[in-house]
Amino acid sequence: MSMQLSHTVKRLGRRYEDAEIEVPVPEQLASVPGIPQRSADVSFFSREHPLESQSIDMSADRQWAWAAQPDDLIEFRDDQEERMESLYEAAHVSADVAPTGTPVPGEDLTEDVRRLARKMGFGEVGFTRYDRRYTFAGAKRWAKFESAICLAVEQDYRQTQTAPSIEADQARFETYEIQMKMCFELADYLRYRGYRAQLHDGADNSGPYIPLFVAAGLGQLGANGQLLSPHFGSRARLMLVTTNAPLTYDEPQDYGIHKFCQECQVCVSRCPGRALMRDKVWWRGVEKNKLVYERCRPIMVTYHGCAVCMKVCPVQRYGMKPVMSHYVETGEVLGKGTENLEGYSMGEKGYFGRGELPSFERDLFDIPKGREEDWLFQQFKERLASGGVPDEAALVEFASEVKKALDKGETTFDIA
Ligand code: SF4
Ligand code: SF4
Repeated sequence: MSMQLSHTVKRLGRRYEDAEIEVPVPEQLASVPGIPQRSADVSFFSREHPLESQSIDMSADRQWAWAAQPDDLIEFRDDQEERMESLYEAAHVSADVAPTGTPVPGEDLTEDVRRLARKMGFGEVGFTRYDRRYTFAGAKRWAKFESAICLAVEQDYRQTQTAPSIEADQARFETYEIQMKMCFELADYLRYRGYRAQLHDGADNSGPYIPLFVAAGLGQLGANGQLLSPHFGSRARLMLVTTNAPLTYDEPQDYGIHKFCQECQVCVSRCPGRALMRDKVWWRGVEKNKLVYERCRPIMVTYHGCAVCMKVCPVQRYGMKPVMSHYVETGEVLGKGTENLEGYSMGEKGYFGRGELPSFERDLFDIPKGREEDWLFQQFKERLASGGVPDEAALVEFASEVKKALDKGETTFDIA
């Protein structure tokens, strides 16, 4: 059995020196380039209900999360955060750094930047308009430029297959660290050519980056909520450099992933938190599978970043071309139903083969919710409802905690 092809998508090789690849897309899986969307709805939600960063909108669980991480990871993260602090600060003010060169009238830097970025080791490089509809409310004044260079670095293959584990989680943070240094180098190149550049890092994002990567043709959104890129699926870490340099934008592509995920569903059935949804819904103007944050977050924090949904994804594991070619030939999802793809170990809970999922105590999911200040009010209301009227000292303490929470929210992206 071999399916009728709708089209193929050509991509540059995985490494700079590698040959181009072609991903076959059968008629059954063809939908639209990028992702189905209603542009007017995306604009409406951006205007009326702008997105906000998780570090603000979900700030109540931040302190809990830091303390609830496994001890071995806390030590690693403390060291890394210390190293990264100066890089975060430099990224924050990067738009203000003056160019060192002089622009040449009429030039287009697209292919020079693509070649350099790929030589540096970025696995995916693409160009698109910086679509401000996806910028977090708190970062709107901070983000300066109209063009986005989308830059993905592949996370270590072997370490990722051990997820959930400290090794896999360290691979995540180490990749971001390497990537950030590479982005600084690329920004310096843009300045040398006479233009400005701003780094949007992976730690405190200025918005969701996946829509921009999809618009730049670097993959499509998977049911696991991650970008499925052609060479390494979701085993990618994403950052942006935005710039005023003259660039030609890439086009979104249809790799067949939008429909393929509905056939595959491996991440949905293997998610230990039961946080991934089988069916797609229209959400803020795009059609996608929604993730339930409250089901995912406690598992991620407690079990080394979890990432089972990344580990069990065939596109991550085998690459998009082998997966799509196999589907075209057999109508089957490569690796689905095998221990090799679907099995995973989850800390002290042990090994879970296909069809088996761990269970958790209900109180694991009982974590602080929403914004920190709202959570403080919620707890205060519960205290009042249970009878006791707090004394003056307790009221003053409550007010000062709320004030602290509000101040924290205001300091994110406060550099205009
Ligand atoms: S990180 Fe884990 S809990 Fe969260 S969606 Fe993925 S598999 Fe599920
Ligand atoms: S595991 Fe399957 S359903 Fe989930 S993102 Fe990967 S391809 Fe899509």
